[in-house]
Amino acid sequence: LRLSGQEYDLAIVGAGFAGLTAAATAAARDLKVIVMEAKPRSGARVHTTGILVKEAAEALDFPSALLRKIHGVRLYAPNLNHVDLVTPGYYFAATDTDALLDWMTLRARTAGATILTDSHLLAGCTRDGWVELEPVGVRARFIIGADGPQSKTARIFGLGQNRKFLTGIEAEYCHHDPRDDHLHCFLDPVYAPGYLGWMVPGVGVRQIGIAAKAGHKLDLNGFISKIEKITGEMQEPPIHTRGGLIPCGGRVNPIAGRNVLLVGDAAGLVSPLTGGGIHRALTYGRRAALAVCDYLQDGGSHPGIEMARAYPTLGAKSFLRTVMNLALPNAVYNGVLGTRTFRAFANLIFFNRRNVAALREIERQREIYSRAA
Ligand SMILES: Cc1cc2nc3c(=O)[nH]c(=O)nc-3n(C[C@H](O)[C@H](O)[C@H](O)COP(=O)(O)OP(=O)(O)OC[C@H]3O[C@@H](n4cnc5c(N)ncnc54)[C@H](O)[C@@H]3O)c2cc1C
Repeated sequence: LRLSGQEYDLAIVGAGFAGLTAAATAAARDLKVIVMEAKPRSGARVHTTGILVKEAAEALDFPSALLRKIHGVRLYAPNLNHVDLVTPGYYFAATDTDALLDWMTLRARTAGATILTDSHLLAGCTRDGWVELEPVGVRARFIIGADGPQSKTARIFGLGQNRKFLTGIEAEYCHHDPRDDHLHCFLDPVYAPGYLGWMVPGVGVRQIGIAAKAGHKLDLNGFISKIEKITGEMQEPPIHTRGGLIPCGGRVNPIAGRNVLLVGDAAGLVSPLTGGGIHRALTYGRRAALAVCDYLQDGGSHPGIEMARAYPTLGAKSFLRTVMNLALPNAVYNGVLGTRTFRAFANLIFFNRRNVAALREIERQREIYSRAA
């Protein structure tokens, strides 16, 4: 589809979590928005496990049929001994990610955004204060690059690019246990050096995957055989396999140019520890769109300046990522798994210290109620 010469306030490249959130937000505020998506639909060929932290699950009113709450984390050492981690009142949500992205597309369209599928950004330039995007031939006053870890927008407009990655691969099976309420995470420096293996009780499915630092050859079948004691024999072949790159080097630099801003994975907005990027894509997708609205509608400051203040930087996490990359021998993980220090560290990574605060709050409330009684 060629829309030669058509003019938009905002063009967004990529209809993933970040792009679709930005599109819905900007269109609802009366910007004329177009989204270019390379795939035939957003939910096609999903590359992510799609787990949402509670904050992300609450960020939009997702249809509950597309989510499944999971209340605990079961963390395994390489010898498959485990500890359970839980935070009162907290949950993760597995998602039917394919349907969730299609629902987000509908939401953006309903807000007034035009979504062009099968539309791969190949080239672009700035002329007379407008950005021109090829091959569709549209002109826009501003563009948001939400086109994932290897952003073409970043390359075309000379912005920062992700350089450090984890690689992940996952298989999805029909066979699942509807009573399972744990996100199973496996420390395994042989199969997943620098990250983890996982088994997720998904929405009507079970997802098993591994991710590791770049350069490591991923052996998912070997990992699945290893954890068979936990999963039971996987008799049927997987119904889907997927995989992709996870940026882990922190936010790119620069994130913006004269009429262009990066967001989501394109901007490196992924937690370098958990590899989770969906919550940040939703949060900053929305905030980036609001900044563009301020700039175009109300003479606000440049979105690049606003988002440079807002986007998270690596900070101390850079040190922790280096520690995770060390891939210590199995015996070390087997030995430390049950220790208080390790549990505290694991709580920090998975729950970001929320459980300490939550437990204190619950204790405080119990005290108040028992005094009242
Ligand atoms: C194996 C794996 C498992 C993961 N599991 C989780 C998880 O459980 N929880 C979590 O929070 N995070 C997870 N992540 C990370 C998470 O998937 C990303 O952080 C998140 O998808 C980022 O959203 P985004 O919108 O920025 O980019 P993306 O989801 O990558 O979306 C980018 C979109 O841009 C499109 N696109 C790309 N290039 C072009 C182009 N030139 N023209 C037009 N369109 C283009 C793509 O087709 C895509 O639809 C995982 C990642 C991987 C690889």
